[in-house]
Amino acid sequence: MAAGSAIQIPSRLPLLLTHESVLLPGSTMRTSVDSPRNMQLVRSRLLKGTSLRSTIIGVIPNTSDPTSDCDDLPNLHRIGTAALAVQVVGSNWPKPHYTLLVTGLCRFQVLQLLKEKPYPVAEVQQLDRLEQFTNGHKSEEELGELSEQFYKYAVQLVEMLDMSVPAVAKLRRLLDNLPREALPDILTSIIRTTNQEKLQILDAVRLEERFKMTIPLLVRQIEGLKLLQKTRKSKQDDDKRVVAIRPNRRISHGSITEDEEEEEDHDDVVMLEKKIRTSSMSEQALKVCLKEIKRLKKMPQSMPEYALTRNYLELMVELPWNKSTKDRLEIRAARIVLDNDHYAMEKLKKRVLEYLAVRQLKNNLKGPILCFVGPPGVGKTSVGRSIAKTLGREFHRIALGGVCDQSDIRGHRRTYVGSMPGRIINGLKTVGVNNPVFLLDEVDKLAKSLQGDPAAALLEVLDPEQNHSFTDHYLNVAFDLSQVLFIATANTTATIPPALLDRMEVIQVPGYTQEEKIEIAHRHLIPKQLELHGLTPQQIQIPQVTTLGIITRYTREAGVRALDRKLGAICRAVAVKVAEGQHKEAKPDRAELGEGEDCKEHVTEDAKPESISDTADLALPPEMPILIDFHALKDILGPPMYDMEVSERLNQPGVAIGLAWTPLGGEIMFVEASRMEGEGQLTLTGQLGDVMKESAHLAISWLRSNAKRYQLTNASGSFDLLDNTDIHLHFPAGAVTKDGPSAGVTIVTCLASLFSGRLVCSDVAMTGEITLRGLVLPVGGIKDKVLAAHRAGLKRIILPQRNEKDLEEIAAPVRQELSFVLASCLDQVLNAAFDGGFAVKASLEHLNSKL
Ligand code: ADP
Repeated sequence: MAAGSAIQIPSRLPLLLTHESVLLPGSTMRTSVDSPRNMQLVRSRLLKGTSLRSTIIGVIPNTSDPTSDCDDLPNLHRIGTAALAVQVVGSNWPKPHYTLLVTGLCRFQVLQLLKEKPYPVAEVQQLDRLEQFTNGHKSEEELGELSEQFYKYAVQLVEMLDMSVPAVAKLRRLLDNLPREALPDILTSIIRTTNQEKLQILDAVRLEERFKMTIPLLVRQIEGLKLLQKTRKSKQDDDKRVVAIRPNRRISHGSITEDEEEEEDHDDVVMLEKKIRTSSMSEQALKVCLKEIKRLKKMPQSMPEYALTRNYLELMVELPWNKSTKDRLEIRAARIVLDNDHYAMEKLKKRVLEYLAVRQLKNNLKGPILCFVGPPGVGKTSVGRSIAKTLGREFHRIALGGVCDQSDIRGHRRTYVGSMPGRIINGLKTVGVNNPVFLLDEVDKLAKSLQGDPAAALLEVLDPEQNHSFTDHYLNVAFDLSQVLFIATANTTATIPPALLDRMEVIQVPGYTQEEKIEIAHRHLIPKQLELHGLTPQQIQIPQVTTLGIITRYTREAGVRALDRKLGAICRAVAVKVAEGQHKEAKPDRAELGEGEDCKEHVTEDAKPESISDTADLALPPEMPILIDFHALKDILGPPMYDMEVSERLNQPGVAIGLAWTPLGGEIMFVEASRMEGEGQLTLTGQLGDVMKESAHLAISWLRSNAKRYQLTNASGSFDLLDNTDIHLHFPAGAVTKDGPSAGVTIVTCLASLFSGRLVCSDVAMTGEITLRGLVLPVGGIKDKVLAAHRAGLKRIILPQRNEKDLEEIAAPVRQELSFVLASCLDQVLNAAFDGGFAVKASLEHLNSKL
């Protein structure tokens, strides 16, 4: 403690003028500094000073409002306390200020004011002799009885407190160890006294006088404590609490009427209670909250449950029990918004408008949940966002991919440490209204685990009959979700649990054709990317042929996400060129080699590259716009990723192209077969599912039974195709699991090619399920498959006859570029797959020619 140090204070001291508090020697005080003079003192003396002496300042109490001391220095109190600045903390909020931690050393008297600005400095005279305190208990006898009496009262007071509290025990020890002379100042600063009383003690320079003045204060505190303890006892409250004696507390009429400290601690709890009472939560929730707040009031803050309960109550207050946005649905406006935001997807937009119209007429949200199913990047999420926009509702996306714990949906019970509400309630808290549009993204990727089935939890959320009283485990009271508009998205319906699928109305969102992609790129993606990169159409031009180039040679996808990324890459590259001012008017890529020197010259001549403004000048027209042609494309995106490889792979018998559907859209699939000497075994590779394996067996059986008809023979010329022959069928890409019946016709064609030695036409792709009798049955995903074939540059597509109706969905430009063969039996398939047909006669001729 400062009183223990024997330092001599400097004769000139900078003065800190305080208004509200009084610092006594031997005590420590935190004071806020925001008046100009005091701020100056902190800045130029405390923050700049390096010696210990520079941290000693004079604290003058009772100065009239220090904020108004800009011009004239107010009258200063005669006596102050020399203090050691222990800590300075600066902050800018709500206004610039410092918080100082100062420890009082000794009294001083202002002899003369030496300067007033920027902060006052005075010549001072030290009043308390610090060394006097440290030199043993010499003065004890001099003060005699007075000091003894004071000591006794002090001991009595401290012993009335709870000695089990470490701070109290320490205080008790200090009473014995500190020099008696220091006690009046120290005790005055810790018992409840007014500033005026403290000021009187500060002014009492003579020790005797100081003792005399502090004894009544001690006695008053002791009496107050006694009274308090009595009232507590009478309440039979045996809960022993420490009554902290703090400075600056007013004691009304000499006794402590209220346990102020406790009240202060519970101030924010009271605020919380007020918020709960004024919030619009349901009756049931209110009841629970009031019960919890009652518990909270009784709980010590140090208990972990205190924080838990508080968090819970704060969440309850924050939840939008009754807060909603006003729907402003106007079907015509909705149509315009949807059309403006999205090109094509007519079927989806039509269905969404119908849905919205019904909602408008019925004025409630009961009914199936819309579920957009389609490959990634086809705009499912962004349509969801547009729906929120048309309705004027808040939008919130809940990603469900990989969620395998039902508490992710329904929350954890509050008994767990770290428990929290589920994503639905969290989402509501985030949007702050009870009628947002919630997009449940990727419902097909929900997983099951030991922690329960999240799909089952979602059922409750989505069921209009139940969701008006959705109970999150964390909240443990019902919350009405009936106003929330749920929309789900998925890549496939196959993995959506049937019960969940039953609650939803599936709207298929197929992939885009190349023409649609070009339009989407030019109407939406390119303008968006330009804005994102701070470019203007005057700076960059991407012609449609370039976009087509990106689509066919750099992406192979159903949606437009990769296309968007590639366009982003182009914009980034152009942004660099624009910023550098180093580009050629038409073909920026060629600047690299031969013409690179020209470019350099150009820069050094016209500008200093270091200066931003100069380089910016270079970026101005007339060199604009930068045209992105194929050369530029290669330069920026690298060599094309997809070349037309189809014809190369079909240059030997035993290969056919099938069409497959995957959650990522349609795909073309090469089926390869080879035969070798063996014992009639069939080997299948490429991670095939059971259904696909069965298709392979079916295909072989059909070919074996029709071998004579088509003149198919094995290597030794026998019509029994498996005689001394093994067959190996492979489906690339080997790492991806494949299943489904639709490869049936492809396998037949591939094997027919193998055994006939004829090549399958290189521009034909096919899909269709087969039967043992050689019939071709319809399959799904026709639009995606056709688009994939079109993307891959194939020309003829063999489809099951009964899939004819699906062709209507395919855009006319694509249809015109393709020829479709509708087959109802395998004869027709084979005829269409081979040049010149595969009829019995044809094969005979072929066989003859081979012979
Ligand atoms: P999904 O949810 O189907 O995976 P997103 O909604 O995230 O796809 O779409 C990816 C990007 O493609 C978004 O930036 C979206 O705006 C854009 N997009 C997709 N389809 C269209 C379209 N028909 N018109 C305009 N932009 C589209």
